[in-house]
Amino acid sequence: MAYAIDDSCIKCGACEAECPVGCISEAQSKYVIDASSCVECGACAAVCPVGAPNPEN
Ligand code: SF4
Ligand code: SF4
Repeated sequence: MAYAIDDSCIKCGACEAECPVGCISEAQSKYVIDASSCVECGACAAVCPVGAPNPEN
C-alpha cells in the first residue's frame, strides 16, 4: 500500500526531504504523496510530528 497524508498535516515540510523517491509535494491545504511513486518505506511517517502519513487501506 502506498502511504497517504491525512488532513491532520500541519504543513511543516519535514517529510518532503526524507522521501527517498521525492514523491511528496506541497499542495494547497496539506502535503500530498504521489501514490504511484511511493515505495512504502515509512520515512515520512517516522518524521511527521502529527502522524499524518499512513498506509492507505
Ligand atoms: Fe516517500 Fe517512503 Fe513516505 Fe512513500 S512511505 S511517501 S516513499 S517517504
Ligand atoms: Fe505534514 Fe507531517 Fe509532512 Fe509535516 S511531516 S508536512 S505535518 S505530513
